[in-house]
Formats: sequence, C-alpha cells, structure tokens
Amino acid sequence: MSTRITVAVVGGGIAGLVAARELALGGAEVSLYERASELGGRVRSTALAGAPIDIGAEAFATRGGAVMQLIEELRLASEVVRPEPLGSWVVTEERSLPLPPGGALGIPSAPLGRASRRVLGTWGALRAALEPLLPRDRTVDRATTLADLVRRRLGERVLDRLVRPVALGVYSTAPEELSLSRLRDLAEAYEREGSLIRAARSLRDSSSAAGGAVAALRGGMAGLVTALAADLERLGVSIHTGHSVEHLGTFAPDGAEPADTILLATPEVTTRALLASSDADSVGDDQPRELQPGTRVEVIALAIEDSRLDAAPRGTGALVAPGTPGIAAKALTHVTAKWADRRAMRDSSVHVVRLSYGRAGSEPETVALSDAEAYELARQDASRILGVELRADAIRDAARKIWVTSTATDANQPLTPQPGIGLAGDWVHGTGLASVVPGARQAARALLAEAQHTLNESDESQVRST
Ligand SMILES: Cc1cc2nc3c(=O)[nH]c(=O)nc-3n(C[C@H](O)[C@H](O)[C@H](O)COP(=O)(O)OP(=O)(O)OC[C@H]3O[C@@H](n4cnc5c(N)ncnc54)[C@H](O)[C@@H]3O)c2cc1C
Repeated sequence: MSTRITVAVVGGGIAGLVAARELALGGAEVSLYERASELGGRVRSTALAGAPIDIGAEAFATRGGAVMQLIEELRLASEVVRPEPLGSWVVTEERSLPLPPGGALGIPSAPLGRASRRVLGTWGALRAALEPLLPRDRTVDRATTLADLVRRRLGERVLDRLVRPVALGVYSTAPEELSLSRLRDLAEAYEREGSLIRAARSLRDSSSAAGGAVAALRGGMAGLVTALAADLERLGVSIHTGHSVEHLGTFAPDGAEPADTILLATPEVTTRALLASSDADSVGDDQPRELQPGTRVEVIALAIEDSRLDAAPRGTGALVAPGTPGIAAKALTHVTAKWADRRAMRDSSVHVVRLSYGRAGSEPETVALSDAEAYELARQDASRILGVELRADAIRDAARKIWVTSTATDANQPLTPQPGIGLAGDWVHGTGLASVVPGARQAARALLAEAQHTLNESDESQVRST
C-alpha cells in the first residue's frame, strides 16, 4: 500500500502557491498556511476609480518562459497582454529622456543608437560601444557588484545615468550593493558572452521597446493568484488563510497530524526565525539570530482626469535618477498608457499612474505622511515626472500600500535547512515572478524526491525487520 507524503507549505505568496500546486501534482497531501486573510502576498489588487489595480507586482518578465508555462497550464494563455510599445523614460537632474530600447538593467544593447547617445552623450556612448572589444575580465565572480562591473567595462556615465536608476527602481538597491549572485541571468549571460553589451543583447531582443520584455494578465496580475487558488482547490490542497505560523513544531491546526515535510515560502526574516524555532536546542534565545529588518517600499496609485496625459508624455513610465531635485518618487508607471486592457476597464478620460517610493537604505518619504499628505506629494511628483502640472481637482481617486521586502540586501547568506524542510521565495531564488515561479517548482520537486527517498528507505528497513 502506498502512503501519501504530507507537506505543510507556509506562506501563500506566489512561491507558496506554486510550490503547493507542484507538490499536489506530484501526489502529496498538501496544507497551505497564510498569515494574511488573502492569498497572493506581494501580488495583490485594490480598487481604484471603480476597477481593480495591481498595487504590488504588475507584470512578469517573459525571460526563461517559466511564468508563461504556468499560465498555459492554468489555461490563462488567452489572457496574456503585452505592454504598449511606447518605451520608458529616465528622469535625471538635467532632463527627461527615453531609455534606450533593448537594454537589460539599464545596460544598453546598442550604445551608439540615438536613444543611448541622447542619454550618454557622444563620449559616454563611444566609451560604452568599445566594451565588446575589451578582453574578458577573469577577475569577475558572483561577489562582484553590478557597479564595479559596469564602471570597469562601460564607464561612469552608463552606471550613473542608466544602470543606477534602473537598479534602484527595480531592486530598491544601489548597484554598489547588488552582487552578481543576485543577478543570475545577467551573470550567466556575461559569463557566456564575455561582454556586458553582448549579454544585454542576448537577454533582450534589441528591436523591442525598452521595458517590452514583460507581459501581464488582462485585468492585472492578481488574476494569477485567483487561478492558482482555484487550481489548488481542484487538487484538494487545504488552504488556511489568516493562519500565522509562529513555530514549526506547533503550527498544524487542532487535531491535524504533523506533516512529513515542510516548505517555507515566507520572507527571509520570517524563515530564519521559524528555522531557529525548530531547532530550540541549538539556538538559545540570547543568541543573535542574524535577523535583518526588511526594507519598506510604498506604492501610491492615482486616478487622474487630464486629457494632456492621453499623449503618454513619458511612454509607459519613468525611472527617476537618485538625487533628482523636487521628486521623492523613484519610479512612475503610467498604467493606462502601458496596458490597453487597463485603459478599457475605466472611463476613457481617466488615467492611472502608480508611483513607488523607498530607495535602498532609506525609508520611503511617504510612510510618515497622512493619506492626504501622501497623495498630495504623489500628485506633485507625478506632475514633475510627467512634465504636466496636474491640478488637485483632477485626482479622481487614490490608493496606497506599504510593502516590506527582505530582498533589498544580499548580506544574508543562503540557509541550509534541516532535512525535510524546503525553502522557496524571492529571497532564495531571485526577485520577480520569472525567478520565483521556477524556483518554487524546483524546490517542491526536490522536497518531494527527498521525502519519497526517506519513505522508501523506511519501507525497506521495515521489510528487512519483519
Ligand atoms: C511594489 C512591488 C512591485 C513589484 N513588481 C513586480 C513586477 O512587476 N514583476 C515581478 O515579477 N515582480 C515584482 N515584484 C516582486 C514580486 O512581487 C516578488 O518577487 C514576489 O511576489 C515574491 O513572492 P514570494 O511568494 O516569494 O513572497 P511574498 O509574496 O512576500 O509571499 C510570502 C507570504 O508569506 C506570508 N507569511 C509571512 N509570514 C508568515 C507566517 N509566519 N505564517 C504564514 N504566512 C506567512 C506573507 O503574508 C506572504 O503572503 C514587486 C514587488 C513589490 C513589493
């Protein structure tokens, strides 16, 4: 008689949902525990001007194909939408300029192209264009920082005018603190190509508009959470929302048998605390647990009625270079310019913009502000970024959400948990759905294989002893 392996998945963000699905598909009996009242973690929607808007992740990178594959398995392929090919901009102290298309992490794939020359100037563009001719740098390894690598190979201008705003906008982290170990795709492409420019080309089709290598689901990425939750229900996974797991020994609800194996898909700080709690003999309360507080970022969404935005003055959105006077936001997405389906969901005169706040090492400028103050700051920032003075009475609706992310620093080393415990989540596999989805699937398969092996061994030893 075969015994079903039981698994407890802790955390109902995308990593936990994907891992739970993979485990259930592999034949395990799965229970999922999520602290919040809703599933999805940092993929969540909120209502704005009569329709939902993503207030966390709003798209996925198509690289690798793992998210698309999941979407196809969930029969959502017909719901995939692509951003309008308007490109995005960078706003610096001196001026606002379109980001060169086809780059990766701000590294231009065509440094002598018109857009690159406008941002970098002739000298900066020439300096970058010579990079493929430089010999391969053998001293580069996974501990090398993005800043160090870009400065050495492409020069200060590429670092300051392109890579820094993109790194701060996407990772909330300065390139000086982003090591190649956190940027696996770029690191692998660089190792393969021996040149950053060629690596950027291989990571993105240089003919696509900047920011074009992403896709989303019609109506928003929260649709992925809904589809995953429905699939988990179909697969018989028991889902416990509003259930915070505080200690690994005691989290099962009353009467439930402890699980054979555990998959932790919680943020890094929680995961470290939970692992310490399962090993009470070796981790005394007085021992430092190397817990690092997360970094906070805030997203503010505004619904604006102003026909001057019909022209999408900053394309799909803009990244703001640090130190740009008079702008506290680090990035703005013009949601209704970027996604045609989002435009169609509301009155055509209403534009939606999303601003994000909170750079590496500092609290978002907005967190201490009241709603009215925060929305007023967002209106002023949006005016400056978009180059259109937006009147206060043009704001039809507003929403805000503060996120805590423990992925802003790579100072913590990966953990090696005890046998029978697997780890998933963006702090393990890399920020963003394109890394989280395949990572969670792989972690689930590894855990299942390990549990199966243990089960087989115990069956064999039982047979031998009879
Ligand atoms: C503002 C913002 C915008 C982003 N935009 C994008 C984007 O456009 N594209 C993209 O690919 N990525 C984006 N990301 C990153 C992406 O959202 C994350 O990488 C991904 O969602 C992380 O998923 P996760 O499951 O690892 O973590 P989370 O989503 O954080 O899930 C962890 C879950 O664990 C739960 N939990 C914590 N402690 C406990 C406990 N003790 N017991 C039970 N449950 C617990 C939490 O409530 C949470 O639901 C964005 C992130 C933010 C914050």
